[in-house]
Amino acid sequence: MRPEIEALMRPVLRDMVPYHVPVHAGVIKLDANENPYPFPTAVRDAIWAAAGGETFNRYPDGAARALRDALADYAGVAPGNVLVGNGSDEIILNLLLTFGTGRRVLIAAPTFGMYRLHSLVAGAEPVEVPRGADFAVEPDAFLAAARAQNAQMVFLCSPNNPTGNVTPPADIERLLREYAGIVVVDEAYAEFAGTSAVGLLSRYPRLVLLRTFSKAFGLAGLRVGYMLAGEDVVQAVWRVKQPFNVNAFSQAAALAVLGNQDVFREQIEAICRARDDLYSRLEELPGVTAFPSRANFILFRTPLPAGGVYEGLLRRGVLVRNVDGPLLPGCLRVTIGRPEENTRFLDALADVLRTGK
Ligand SMILES: *Cc1c(COP(=O)(O)O)cnc(C)c1O
Repeated sequence: MRPEIEALMRPVLRDMVPYHVPVHAGVIKLDANENPYPFPTAVRDAIWAAAGGETFNRYPDGAARALRDALADYAGVAPGNVLVGNGSDEIILNLLLTFGTGRRVLIAAPTFGMYRLHSLVAGAEPVEVPRGADFAVEPDAFLAAARAQNAQMVFLCSPNNPTGNVTPPADIERLLREYAGIVVVDEAYAEFAGTSAVGLLSRYPRLVLLRTFSKAFGLAGLRVGYMLAGEDVVQAVWRVKQPFNVNAFSQAAALAVLGNQDVFREQIEAICRARDDLYSRLEELPGVTAFPSRANFILFRTPLPAGGVYEGLLRRGVLVRNVDGPLLPGCLRVTIGRPEENTRFLDALADVLRTGK
């Protein structure tokens, strides 16, 4: 970068590593926790039918009324408790711009990288608190850190990406009782876990739940996420959000998905069965440790360096995510694919471990 441009940039951005997504054609893609099944034709037809001419030439409904009504119904809350975003990534940034800028933000790590990156972009200071044994959030340590750091908001993810474990609602309730800031619980994988902290919403107006259509519901390409929160938090974030943040086509698509949940329910059940099957088969591979998961991915460790395993799998046509780092030494994350893809992955991994490369 030209030094004069770098000098003009905000200092925090100068040494930030941009979010990087490697692109590889023709591989089995088990790196991004997407739904592995082709998008159902009947639902696609319903989306085409719903997206009339006005979908293209008119601005979308900035309040996403129809979609928020359907989401309120789906989640068992009022429409005033729902805010829709251009992916939940956008909502993470908007939450940080609303509550975090110039303040400290606590993050239960290891976890999804966007809480930290968006904190820096928003001019907040991210503070990572390590999780305890089995990657559980330890309420005592987390509360102590929140007080010591005077944090304005905290992020935890449940089921946690990339570790797969759930934080029990009782622990979340304890945080809400003993900490006065905003508590964000990212439930991007809630449909796979079959559990949620949504029951706490009516009693705790500072609780924020993040959800997405990108994982269980197969819409990663159309960018639709949402948050469930107290009405006041929704109103606060509304001041920050772009007026037309979610396009009309994506609103129609998300609405069609909610109107056709059965087909996705079946896919979710198949993915969970395949996950439990892959977990036991991974555990049987000599030297491999797999971590139990309630989501659509599995974290695992092998005796070889993670970078070598990643490259070895890629040479054999399987793309996974290398999440190696100080908190996850030697670890990789594999998304649950269709059964034949999971077998291809296992065979490739066994071959990498046998040959050492
Ligand atoms: C994938 C993921 C997201 C991003 O979802 P989008 O709605 O596609 O932006 C958010 N949080 C977690 C934990 C994720 O894994």
